[in-house]
Amino acid sequence: MSFLQLRGVEKIFGQHKVIKGVDLDIHKNEFIVFVGPSGCGKSTLLRMIAGLESIDGGSLHVDGKNITHLPSSQRDLAMVFQSYALYPHMTVYDNMSFALKLAKVAPDVIKQKVEHAADILNLSKYLQRTPKELSGGQRQRVAIGRAIVRAPKIFLFDEPLSNLDAALRGQTRVEIHKLHRALGVTTIYVTHDQVEAMTLADRVVVLRDGAIEQVGAPLDLYDKPANQFVAQFIGMPSMNIVKAAQLAGFGSLSGQTGFPVPSDGLIGVRPEGVRVLPAGRSGVPGKVELIESLGADTLIHVEVKGTSMISRQSERTALEVGDPVTLEFDLSSLHCFDSAGRMVARI
Ligand code: ADP
Ligand code: MG
Repeated sequence: MSFLQLRGVEKIFGQHKVIKGVDLDIHKNEFIVFVGPSGCGKSTLLRMIAGLESIDGGSLHVDGKNITHLPSSQRDLAMVFQSYALYPHMTVYDNMSFALKLAKVAPDVIKQKVEHAADILNLSKYLQRTPKELSGGQRQRVAIGRAIVRAPKIFLFDEPLSNLDAALRGQTRVEIHKLHRALGVTTIYVTHDQVEAMTLADRVVVLRDGAIEQVGAPLDLYDKPANQFVAQFIGMPSMNIVKAAQLAGFGSLSGQTGFPVPSDGLIGVRPEGVRVLPAGRSGVPGKVELIESLGADTLIHVEVKGTSMISRQSERTALEVGDPVTLEFDLSSLHCFDSAGRMVARI
């Protein structure tokens, strides 16, 4: 079990600074998820921690020791990639035992470790197969098994589920979660998928353009996003954001809540904080644009003064596209941002 400290970590490719001074403390046992849009620097930051990319500024410490320039082979961590990176001609057993063989571990110890990992990962039946005789999910489990047998101080995952179909992704996500509970190894996991971030992480690190936007427990990010970017990146469907001035109905909010909504600011409300009422009730008038019935949930898209807002409700609806409605907002779930998108307050 290890802890990490990143201090002003920077990466420069050519003229381009892609990691812009990252400060982060990762605690023992923690499951940390780096999340952010494609190209924001998640893989680069992970690869710098792994020692696969040099660190051009700042420092990296593991268990209090400065390892900024330590070669990858001496960092005692194991990485799992999206592409699995298995040896195609080797059996599952040989793939999983390869690193231990290189390290000259005794064959009976190797056997015990591989069989234990195979057992945890439901791979015992497949030890003599080669990767091409396995499904994508099984291949990814072999890649994870290969990491487990090395008993590293830290696990690093780079989008390990991206090549799997939706059902396998969900299943493997649950396995990774259970594995972390069983092994308790400090883990850093990169994804662009906010659902993976929310479900796996002890704490989520939201990255944008090479810098940290916010770090926090999943529900803290959901409930108290620091800015419009985090507010809209976390949560599905995204938080509705409208210009305060755009919605006449919001004008009276200051009075109701005692909170001054800046006239050039933005108001955010999660879809579950928007209620759709019959037309003519007091609230903000709108018109149904689209209905998505998901079974347990119904998403109703409503056009309000040229903006589209989404309401999520657990009841089914008899409404139809084109119907006039009234929107009512749950005051306890409103967020307020200034004109630059920074959170002013959660109302
Ligand atoms: P993410 O994993 O979040 O999608 P990356 O870390 O792969 O993003 O990339 C971050 C930025 O760094 C991107 O703009 C990418 O084009 C750039 N980049 C990544 N690797 C290299 C490289 N080896 N040389 C030059 N630019 C790179
Ligand atoms: Mg990446």
